[in-house]
Amino acid sequence: MIEALRDAILAPRCAGCGDPGKWYCVSCRDQAEARSVRGPVAIRAVGEHEGSLRRAIHRLKYGGDRALAADLGALVAEELARDIARGATIDVVVPVPLHRSRALARGYDQAALLAEAVGRETRLPVRRALRRIRQGRPQVELDRSARAANVRRAFVAEAGSLRKLSVALVDDVATTGATLADAAAAARAAGARSVGAYVVAFDE
Ligand SMILES: [Zn+2]
Repeated sequence: MIEALRDAILAPRCAGCGDPGKWYCVSCRDQAEARSVRGPVAIRAVGEHEGSLRRAIHRLKYGGDRALAADLGALVAEELARDIARGATIDVVVPVPLHRSRALARGYDQAALLAEAVGRETRLPVRRALRRIRQGRPQVELDRSARAANVRRAFVAEAGSLRKLSVALVDDVATTGATLADAAAAARAAGARSVGAYVVAFDE
């Protein structure tokens, strides 16, 4: 009885549609349409921040569902693999970290979990090279221009720590791209040769 209960609780169910079997199922994933955006940093997303992908990210961030990071990270890894197959060079995966205080409050950093999953899938090394020095208010509370101001110079990296490396930043959601642009600037300042960004979803 207790075992049956435990199995029912621990058995994966899709965070998008509730179907059993995986934390994020193939049919939900097939509904997502990958997209690229070019700005200060090129961003590739598995899909839009809506529907099942939005529900899954929400569970990863606020529901304590760490196991979801493996399935969502695998989707992000597919986008890296696609770019590598097209001739892109990627040397290292770098998560876009939460501020330490927020990671402590949540108990984990979802971007770090995603990056670890991406590293496992792609066999690329993962390096936590960036540190967030300002978290600011949660992005969802701010309008677009305030968001851009909110993240300015929010990251630091040790000088030379990414020297001559082609970096793939990994995060859960890209909103204005301002956070990723800021993280990319910090990576370049640490010596990165090139920087691209990969996220689960675009939120526009
Ligand atoms: Zn599903």
